[in-house]
Amino acid sequence: MKPAIILIDPQLGENIGMVARAMWNCSLTDLRLVRPRDHWLNEHTLKAAAGASDRLNETKVFATTQEAIADLHWVFATTARPRCMEKIINTPKEAADYMVQNPTLKTGILFGRERSGLHNDDIAMANVVIEIPMNPDYSSLNLAQAALICAYEYHQAWLEDSQSLKERILKKDPALKENIILFFEHLERELDKTDFLLPLEKRAKMVRNLRNIFQHIPMSEQDVRTLRGIISALTFKPGSPYKGFDNKG
Ligand code: SAH
Repeated sequence: MKPAIILIDPQLGENIGMVARAMWNCSLTDLRLVRPRDHWLNEHTLKAAAGASDRLNETKVFATTQEAIADLHWVFATTARPRCMEKIINTPKEAADYMVQNPTLKTGILFGRERSGLHNDDIAMANVVIEIPMNPDYSSLNLAQAALICAYEYHQAWLEDSQSLKERILKKDPALKENIILFFEHLERELDKTDFLLPLEKRAKMVRNLRNIFQHIPMSEQDVRTLRGIISALTFKPGSPYKGFDNKG
């Protein structure tokens, strides 16, 4: 599931607003705050959130980290500094891939306070640490920028996964060129009847363009059958028997 972004003791409204904006840029909506300052939802927060300011109304506020993560299965803690703790360390991409590959897990990412980062007790509640690899001499990012990098990686991993899902479905039923070409010929035959492919000297080029349009994305056999059914339906003349089409042409 898409991760919750959990800010522990955020001090500045600007940062909360920028995190909300970065999240919404990456299609994330579950923002949780632990012990934010009083009046955290102020004009600075709203201004920094820009087009995502409406989403701030859905932000949940908690008194402790335990309460903020109680409904989750798997939690990451982000830190710029290596801590003396026995923890697996992931890059944001590794963490994102893990979340996308385990879509039934409810997950969250903890971010620390602007000045001092996460306390070791917060990190100890997480399963894995995320360290964003930056300049070793100056690795501490602004809170909202760190959140953007993690949210961005999640969004990329999610996009890639939905793409491969499409490919997996298609692999079950990819169309044979033979049937795709029969569809092209069927379409071109009917277009010839309407004079769409005139003048004659341009016909070859128009046919090539049409064929290219239908091969930008892979087609399944079902796609080809649907397209041929559409041609048959559109060219059906009332009074003549509806023949549909067969694979001979
Ligand atoms: N001065 C603090 C850093 C605070 S930055 C310190 O030294 O720990 C605020 C938060 O942004 C951090 O708590 C962490 O959650 C996140 N962050 C900043 N830089 C990061 C990095 N390079 N890797 C992972 N998280 C980072």
